[in-house]
Amino acid sequence: MGFEFVYSSKLEAAVNWARKFSLFSYPFVTACCGMEYMSTAAPKYDIARFGSEFPRFSPRQADLLIIVGTITERQGPALRRIYEQMCEPKWVIAFGVCASTGGFYQNYSTMPGADQVVPVDVYIPGCPPRPEQVLDALIMLQERIQRGEGHSQIAMRVDQGFDVPAASVRPISRITEHGEKAKVK
Ligand code: SF4
Repeated sequence: MGFEFVYSSKLEAAVNWARKFSLFSYPFVTACCGMEYMSTAAPKYDIARFGSEFPRFSPRQADLLIIVGTITERQGPALRRIYEQMCEPKWVIAFGVCASTGGFYQNYSTMPGADQVVPVDVYIPGCPPRPEQVLDALIMLQERIQRGEGHSQIAMRVDQGFDVPAASVRPISRITEHGEKAKVK
């Protein structure tokens, strides 16, 4: 274990510490979970205390995509395009059971979870989840960021040529802009 390895791992730990406390979220709100999302951002629960400030209204200024509500098959390509517009590294939270699994909808038009089109880092159960659950999920995400375990962080390490355990690279089914399905990292 050489000096360079120790230096780069210490540097990465410091950078990840800064990243986890300066998250800029982009809320993709489609349904009733939006009410609880607003509650979490309001003064009573005040998500800003945890380093996640006001939402950004352009994905190009955000590094945390929060998917709030039901995702339909037709929204899939738009959601994927939003994810691709965000800067690296980036993270994704599925807010509520609809975004996590499709919830109680079992029909031709509802996607069975946002992870059909984007890699989700943390899932929040509940219909809708309580604000305390949302804060808990944010803290869980911060712990993953510190350990460098976000999907995007792992993909960046793969691109840089580092050895990464195959099990941690998660392929997802991607819906492209043209509505086709393809396998991506
Ligand atoms: S999880 Fe419940 S509250 Fe949230 S979008 Fe689905 S139906 Fe609405």
